[in-house]
Amino acid sequence: MAEKPEEHRSTIDRSAFNIYCRIGSYKFCNFAYDLYLIIYMKQTISNRVQALAASQTLAMSQKSSELKAQGIDVINLSVGEPDFNTPDHIKAAAVRAIEENYTFYSPVPGYMSLRKAISEKLSRENGITFAPEQIVVGNGAKHSLCNVIMATVNAGDEVIIPVPAWVSYMEMVKLAEGVPVTVATGIEQDFKVTPEQLRAALTPRTRAVLLCSPSNPTGSVYTRAELHGLVDVLAERPDVLVISDEIYEHINYTGEPYVSLGSFAELEGRVAVINGVSKAYAMTGWRIGYCAAPTDIAKAVSKLQGQMTSGVSSIAQKAAEAAYTGPQDCVEEMRRAFERRRDLVVALASEIPDLKVNKPEGAFYLYPEVSAYLGKHFGEREIATDSDLAMYLLEEAHVATVAGSAFCTPGYIRLSYATSDDNIREAMRRIAEALAKLK
Ligand code: PMP
Ligand code: GLU
Repeated sequence: MAEKPEEHRSTIDRSAFNIYCRIGSYKFCNFAYDLYLIIYMKQTISNRVQALAASQTLAMSQKSSELKAQGIDVINLSVGEPDFNTPDHIKAAAVRAIEENYTFYSPVPGYMSLRKAISEKLSRENGITFAPEQIVVGNGAKHSLCNVIMATVNAGDEVIIPVPAWVSYMEMVKLAEGVPVTVATGIEQDFKVTPEQLRAALTPRTRAVLLCSPSNPTGSVYTRAELHGLVDVLAERPDVLVISDEIYEHINYTGEPYVSLGSFAELEGRVAVINGVSKAYAMTGWRIGYCAAPTDIAKAVSKLQGQMTSGVSSIAQKAAEAAYTGPQDCVEEMRRAFERRRDLVVALASEIPDLKVNKPEGAFYLYPEVSAYLGKHFGEREIATDSDLAMYLLEEAHVATVAGSAFCTPGYIRLSYATSDDNIREAMRRIAEALAKLK
């Protein structure tokens, strides 16, 4: 299991403000920092970026790291990333790449050898045909997704996003001046959008639908039949692009093979598949993702990337190539560990009174409904919202989680269980204790 080097985990620089920051003065420091941002940014920062919400997953993780740096024993269940080290054969390929002088600019869409390896992976594992020319390697799946949105969404175009959804989807659409159209799903429907809901959300302005299975933040996985139901609705609208975020593909506990939306004949020529090595191969820091898309979209993404970032790290590309072409048993080993932890976290969460949990079939998140605790008090302190609850858990239980409102569904919190069994046990004990104190 990996020891994460905390000092390398910088996200937002609050250093000037957190030197003296202890839990007692924590709120004040953040308030001062936000005030500074409001005054300063009003003068210098574009409307586009001012309208953007900061990533709550990264912000909570950053807060947790800051408290840890002050010697507070925080268990971080906020950020979602595998806690395993990158497998040795992948690291060795990166070392070799350096020795063999893969140190020059790489082609904008990625080395052809990597795009061929991805094309073969898509055919072997997902039964879909994308030529290497239809694949563009990006700086993580996040970048690839943003590229596809920027390349396809015009001002005013609607993008349907079933929620809860990963924090960055809505913001990326807004960045493209599109309109995120959220469709609410709850725990009672296992957080899966139904064909009826999808049909009702489609309008003449719909440009794209963005789906994620297994889902972040809920861990829900659509069955083939459920996907079929959605595909039947989408078949009625051939002008709508389907963006399928498949980054958690391999973290699947259903016992069934993964079904990619790209494999449905009805959607041929209008699915952009987003994936990468971060989750399956424990490579979050290497920053390699890709989009596999219809040729015109792949070309547009490449053009955009050519002006904004160029080809991504040559060394990381060689490592990713080794991931796709090398032995795959590491993927299954990690999947098994996550499944065991899923069972543990579900069992422990189910013992906590009034916490409603479903059994996630994939990814490494639990998304309990916490509304029974909202409106309660800890002494004078009111826990009015899920964000208050997440902050209370951080400050009183020293467990970092992410509030459901960050994923467009207030009344929930997200727990990432990509951590050791001991951490899971201790975190759930602390959460149970802190919740029991609310009156
Ligand atoms: N999609 C989802 C749903 C995610 O949770 C993540 C992880 N942050 C990503 C895409 C992006 O992954 P990465 O950029 O690390 O490849
Ligand atoms: N996918 C992770 C999460 O949701 C990584 C952080 C991020 O990029 O949002 O926590």
